Amino acid sequence: MTARVTVHAEARGAALRRLPSVDDVLKTDAAAVAIERFGRTATVAAVRTALDETRAAFRAGGDAGEPDVSSARVAGDALARMVADAQPAVRPVFNLTGVVLHTNLGRAVLAEAAIEAAVTAMRRTIALEFDLSTGKRGERDTLVRDLLCELTGAEDATVVNNNAAAVLLVLATLAKGREAIVSRGELIEIGGAFRMPDIMARAGAKLVEVGTTNRTHPKDYAAALNDRTGLVLKVHTSNYRIEGFTSAVPARDLVALARDKNVPVVDDLGSGTLIDLTRFGLAHEPTVAEAVAAGADLVTFSGDKLLGGPQAGFVVGRRDLIQKINRNPMKRALRVDKIRLAAIEATLKLYRDPDRLAEKLPTLRHLARPQADILAQARRLQAGLATAVGEKFDVTAAACNSQIGSGALPQETLPSAALTIRPRAERGAGRALETLAKALRDLPVPVIGRIADGALVLDLRCLDDEVGFLNALASLRGGADGLA
Ligand SMILES: *Cc1c(COP(=O)(O)O)cnc(C)c1O
Repeated sequence: MTARVTVHAEARGAALRRLPSVDDVLKTDAAAVAIERFGRTATVAAVRTALDETRAAFRAGGDAGEPDVSSARVAGDALARMVADAQPAVRPVFNLTGVVLHTNLGRAVLAEAAIEAAVTAMRRTIALEFDLSTGKRGERDTLVRDLLCELTGAEDATVVNNNAAAVLLVLATLAKGREAIVSRGELIEIGGAFRMPDIMARAGAKLVEVGTTNRTHPKDYAAALNDRTGLVLKVHTSNYRIEGFTSAVPARDLVALARDKNVPVVDDLGSGTLIDLTRFGLAHEPTVAEAVAAGADLVTFSGDKLLGGPQAGFVVGRRDLIQKINRNPMKRALRVDKIRLAAIEATLKLYRDPDRLAEKLPTLRHLARPQADILAQARRLQAGLATAVGEKFDVTAAACNSQIGSGALPQETLPSAALTIRPRAERGAGRALETLAKALRDLPVPVIGRIADGALVLDLRCLDDEVGFLNALASLRGGADGLA
């Protein structure tokens, strides 16, 4: 050992001996604040952790000058950690990604009516499985069954946790130990974990693939139908399109084929919408009512995609099949709770008044927002954002394209507008953008954009709360000089 290291070790030892005791730290003002906010037990634990970390840092060495071993510093560290830990993990962000129904950001934002209904269901006891007219036990699905039938033209309906659960339950009920026929062009994967062949295996159904990737004909289905067939599944290719030399069998023709053999046809619509979106200037997405009218025996769709409600999966269609599904013990494991049922009912009721739907349903309001409106908003916010990000960046208001997301209308883009942030200096521009994107994600209400073509793009289509956005940016200002 050299003399220099020995001196260091001695200095370190002396510093360690000067470390305050837990009691000393608890006497500081910061500790008093911590005790007031988080309680004594948690504060003592946080102070111990801060002291341990200080000790460990000394032991690890390093040439960082004279260490601060004051009680105030240790208490400050403990308080900062507790404040950070108190942040809810489930917290709001500004979705400026340009993807309206972003699965990783929680998909649909609920309508006020749905929020109120959910809050009431949380706060009060409700007649969940209780028939108020007879005083006897009821069925939870009846709370929304009639509405679903009214809006889709189906005979009966049931509700589960999500559409993946709906498909799983349908397969497990109608095709367990039997064959399920699917076109090769429709063997979808959605978001990695939902792959049709895997779901089939889990449901105990034997997958029978027919046709080719680009073309499937009625005769392909006809050749595969036999007395081991449990169902024919039609899957909406929601996150891709097969184009060019293609051919698929429309549900109507499939129904005619399968009906001869007494085999049910199930149409997994994925997103599924309850109204014709063309009235809002969007491309046509098959509606649930159309799928029912085409004769599908069962139709499955999501609650939190285009429908704009909470996470849920719906199965609508033939009464005898729905009853069979409801008797499957898996149904109990996949059911929804009272909070979501309340939100579903309130969301569905909005569809009774399609003229005011875009006003009341955030998903549709966001999807239907005209570009001019979004561009005007971008111009209003441009100066505020420019101040917040500082002089190293240029901020412009520019046209861009949003996507619907969650597999609905995958090729459809919506003309939108964004605040586009570009580093002024060419050198290190990529890193500057990453650093800025990270700083925006670190805000108390994180701002999530996307990096494209050397710019950080904040698509404003889904920005409702301008004041909140500007307030969030205000806390960037302090750190803006550190950017780039
Ligand atoms: C999204 C989707 C699913 C899964 O629905 P979740 O509600 O996300 O579980 C299943 N099938 C299709 C065709 C889909 O688009």
